Amino acid sequence: MSDFRGKMGGGLQRRPAEVLQINVGKLCNQTCVHCHVDAGPHRVEQMGSSTADSCIALIDRLDTIQTVDITGGAPELNGEFRRLVSAARSRSLEVIDRCNLTVLQEPGQEDLADFLAENQVWVIASLPCYLEENVDGQRGKGVFQRSIEALQQLNSLGYGSDGVHRLDLVYNPTGPMLPPEASGLERTFKKQLASNYGVTFDTLITITNMVINRFESFLRRSGELESYQQLLEENFNPATIPNLMCLNTLSISWDGFIYDCDFNQMLDLKLGREEPLRVEDLTAEAFLDLEVITGRHCFGCTAGTGSSCGGALV
Ligand code: SF4
Ligand code: SF4
Repeated sequence: MSDFRGKMGGGLQRRPAEVLQINVGKLCNQTCVHCHVDAGPHRVEQMGSSTADSCIALIDRLDTIQTVDITGGAPELNGEFRRLVSAARSRSLEVIDRCNLTVLQEPGQEDLADFLAENQVWVIASLPCYLEENVDGQRGKGVFQRSIEALQQLNSLGYGSDGVHRLDLVYNPTGPMLPPEASGLERTFKKQLASNYGVTFDTLITITNMVINRFESFLRRSGELESYQQLLEENFNPATIPNLMCLNTLSISWDGFIYDCDFNQMLDLKLGREEPLRVEDLTAEAFLDLEVITGRHCFGCTAGTGSSCGGALV
């Protein structure tokens, strides 16, 4: 077993927070095999209005945030989602919605696509393959067809083609391997989705599956946990380090605690450790003084061309 910190030769140097990632909870209409959040329809953990208020106050207090990245679960199912979007947009911040696509067809979400378009929300949507059987195998039966319909709906509003409504797709490998080179795969995705379904999008983001939660259990069951971890460690790439997302990101959990990234959040590695910091308490100065909490899971971010919520790092 390798030690990530040892491999790095020390800790990571934090920069001012430019990205505020808000995980509004674990409620989701899907239960994907690789989900690092363990999200699903029966999860009850949900951000409430006072924590959402505190997130908005934090944006004003820090004054360095440029992007608000809202994730979940299916973040759109949270009652505070639209208020967070509106608050960020009224401050001229970029807003990302990590969208699973099928949520657009959930009861009560009939106007969701219009809301996203009106607010020029950048949609980063999960579609791990252009083949139905692979998507349904990873994300559930019928998910591929519903995802295609959702993409067509977003396209009809200008997403993925007009240069204003940005639509990116997220690819993650269906098994224990590193993602392939992004630009070649993006060309294939664009060709296949356009010719088979008339779907267009802007960029394909490739991410590495992290050894956390449901994917970790999946590897354990298939006896591939150690070999996958070894693969990540053998492919450690120091060139990814300056671009790691934890260097300029703040991640807030549904219950108002602060983390370096969504992965540390899922592992309950709270900033402040024994005296965990809450979103109400954080100042820009205090944030810069806190060490990034790393662990063996971080090899998932530094393998090959690297991985982050925004895709490859080098
Ligand atoms: S991967 Fe995304 S869509 Fe799938 S269960 Fe997890 S949060 Fe929901
Ligand atoms: S999991 Fe990745 S983003 Fe999170 S602390 Fe480790 S290296 Fe940074």
